[in-house]
Amino acid sequence: MSNAAVRMDNVSVYYGQTPALTDVCLEVQSGEYLGIIGPNGGGKSTLLKAILGLVKISGGSVEVFGRPVKSGISGIGYVPQFADMDKNTPISVREVVLTGRLRPGINPFFRFSKEDEEFSCSLIDKVGLSHLKNRRIRELSGGEYQRMLIARALATNPGLLLLDEPTASVDAAARVQIYELLEELNKSMTIILVTHDLLAISSHVHRLACLNRTLVYHGEPEFNEDVVNGLYGCPVDLIAHGVPHRVLREHGEDVKE
Ligand code: ADP
Repeated sequence: MSNAAVRMDNVSVYYGQTPALTDVCLEVQSGEYLGIIGPNGGGKSTLLKAILGLVKISGGSVEVFGRPVKSGISGIGYVPQFADMDKNTPISVREVVLTGRLRPGINPFFRFSKEDEEFSCSLIDKVGLSHLKNRRIRELSGGEYQRMLIARALATNPGLLLLDEPTASVDAAARVQIYELLEELNKSMTIILVTHDLLAISSHVHRLACLNRTLVYHGEPEFNEDVVNGLYGCPVDLIAHGVPHRVLREHGEDVKE
């Protein structure tokens, strides 16, 4: 029996006439920590949304933990690239994380239970923000804000966590904290991380998928020139941490080692 957390078979997604994904086949094993890289517009966010059932797929199929995906599927935590809230909203960290416990179809007299409150507090603790739990979100640093969003994504106790560039606007120290947190979370859940960060690719993720509308590469988190050329359309320099230092060829130059 397959141990796949996610299985995508020949998935295509169009926005009107624009193809965002074409014939993508990708299997992510349970417990895996997968990084997804690719150029802007390469379909990375769309791939996450296809796993969440948030976009209509025009071909192929997506299964999560062996079940066909439909919108509102449980068991998946999602940290979107652009958080769906105004940073100036007068709401605290605790209240944001609690919203992760909201369930579809709640009635107007709904109140969070003691269990909701306790579980949210334990998540705030887990992401290292207990000292800030009553702080307004506009007073958080970029890294604290992202860790709060991760806590909210964990509120349904998911087996699969999807993150869309969580380190895009945080400083170096906060990036390291986020990667340490994700490594800890990966002990109990599958993680798919969309990133442009070479630190994540070279030192943290276990597998790598390179997406440029189609899946250009899926395998060990190592680059070679063919992969990069297929992904970005031209050679780029890459300096990797934790793997042998490599400098790829500039346009019209020989390889430098
Ligand atoms: P990435 O996350 O790799 O930057 P996206 O998945 O956001 O790529 O976008 C893939 C392609 O689909 C791009 O050409 C983008 O302009 C287009 N696209 C994304 N979302 C929409 C949308 N809601 N409506 C129309 N086109 C979209």
